[in-house]
Amino acid sequence: MPKNLRKRLSRLTSTLYGGSQRQILKSLNQSQWWPKEQIEKHQLERLRETLAHCYDSYDFYRERLDRAGVDPCNIKSLKELARLPVLTKEEYHSMYRNAPEAKGRVEHRKTSGTTGLALQFRKTIEATTIMRALDSRSLSWYGIAPGDRQARFWSASETSAGRWKQWGGDYLLNRYRFSVNQIDDGYAMRLLEDLRRCRPDYVYGYASGIYEFSKLILRHKVTAPRVKAVIVTSEMLYRHQKEVIHEAFGSPVVREYGSTEFGPIAFECEQGELHVMDENLIVESCSDDGEQKLLVTELNNRDVPFIRYEIGDAGVVGDRRCSCGRNLTVLSELMGRTNGFIRLMDGSIIYDNIFDFLITIAGVDQIQVVLVARDKLQIFFKGNDIDWPGVEKAVETLKGFCGGQIEMSWQQVDEIPLDKSGKRNYFKSLVGYGE
Ligand SMILES: [Zn+2]
Repeated sequence: MPKNLRKRLSRLTSTLYGGSQRQILKSLNQSQWWPKEQIEKHQLERLRETLAHCYDSYDFYRERLDRAGVDPCNIKSLKELARLPVLTKEEYHSMYRNAPEAKGRVEHRKTSGTTGLALQFRKTIEATTIMRALDSRSLSWYGIAPGDRQARFWSASETSAGRWKQWGGDYLLNRYRFSVNQIDDGYAMRLLEDLRRCRPDYVYGYASGIYEFSKLILRHKVTAPRVKAVIVTSEMLYRHQKEVIHEAFGSPVVREYGSTEFGPIAFECEQGELHVMDENLIVESCSDDGEQKLLVTELNNRDVPFIRYEIGDAGVVGDRRCSCGRNLTVLSELMGRTNGFIRLMDGSIIYDNIFDFLITIAGVDQIQVVLVARDKLQIFFKGNDIDWPGVEKAVETLKGFCGGQIEMSWQQVDEIPLDKSGKRNYFKSLVGYGE
């Protein structure tokens, strides 16, 4: 099918998803430039409505609001949200099971349960339309228009029914899917040919998959077709990965932070800052025993909304303004999953990005760091002709950084497996804190 026809079909599909999406996008394109005070006023109005809905509809939230002495209609400032307790995944799960049936049309969704508990929840059609419009707005920062062709580096479904479903969605949305399940040298070169043939407008997918592909094609001294942007999602993007991907594609490498529960949460602007989707969410960072936990509150979903939900990621909400001119909140740091850290015996915390530089050691292709006990770390290296004296030096540096409180061992392996969803975790903690 000609490129333009696919593009038109894709635009039609997005219109069918929600007739008002274009209208919402138009107002989002304006609100991103509003003064901070105007954005906060908008958030406050939506927060009042959301909490009033919670008070009227769910016993769980009514009790919480009453206990905290918060009257939804009389909230004067966004700061008052902090008077409500944090909502855990388990609490949401049990509240959802006891919640009344949805009143209008809703979309049922479910998290994958990789962190132990598969969470079910619902979104009103208005809420999902806003989420899709926010996606479109973020892409527009890089000149990507609705219907533009996407090369998607993702995992392939394990079942044939799942693959058919993926194929249908991809066809309608003008996406070309490239599996990241197993990227080796030969596959990377075939993938490059396919990529050249499909002429994507942009690339979207897992950082680790796009990085593996980029590394292999650079090794062959070739580059990928130039695109408007390479958007990486679902995983942390480490500095060395960003550099390699940028070299391979010659295009901006952009971080998207999202989740199944909320869709887009933050998106990186042209100036390199992660902007929160303020019109749809309030994101707070709360310091708990040295950890910086992110809490998310929905503003537009009137069906069992998440209020101060502990999403399981660590990050810091900044108060600086970005030079791009948008007044949307800046997420000044995003450290990944809240279990992506080591708590030393003295109580201090070390985040997993300190292992980042191990990948730059000569001969190293992939690494995986596994915390097997509170004071014991195993490092796995995959590669050829690895500079072992370099590894030894690096590990000594890391030990020093951890104040000598962690025992570290390392070994070479033939394969570092992907997890079930096709992501490759550089850091895995087998230690549950607070248990
Ligand atoms: Zn910005």
